[in-house]
Amino acid sequence: MAIRNVVQLGDEVLRQKCLPVEHFDEGLWRLLDDMKDTVKKEEGAGLAAPQVGVLKRAVVVDVEDGYFEFINPVILAQKGEQNGWEGCLSVRGKSGVVSRPMKVKLAYQDRNGEKHMLQAKGFFARAICHELDHLDGILYIDKATQIERN
Ligand code: ZN
Repeated sequence: MAIRNVVQLGDEVLRQKCLPVEHFDEGLWRLLDDMKDTVKKEEGAGLAAPQVGVLKRAVVVDVEDGYFEFINPVILAQKGEQNGWEGCLSVRGKSGVVSRPMKVKLAYQDRNGEKHMLQAKGFFARAICHELDHLDGILYIDKATQIERN
């Protein structure tokens, strides 16, 4: 387990589309373990693989509802709307207001490749949407209606 360096805004790796995870092997587990160490140390609500320089569809989310690993995640359905503040470990010193769905239904695989579904609402849903955007090269600042320096 190790802390990985979090890529910052301006690095092209944040703007690329990630590839599906095909091998649920030790390489993936090491990546996920390192992402956990990194998000805990940085006190983030989540972290996506491209933020540590890996173009794979894997994210972790760390919120009040718990700590989650989502591999090859897909939002199947969404409902409602919420506006709220977001920050990003790859965009230091700023936060912005972003509109997100209030509820999402997510399909994903765990670190062993097992398929699952999950429903999330409120800030948990927001964190999922933010992290999934990273997998397609989208940052919250692309969607924010208001951005402020912290
Ligand atoms: Zn982010």
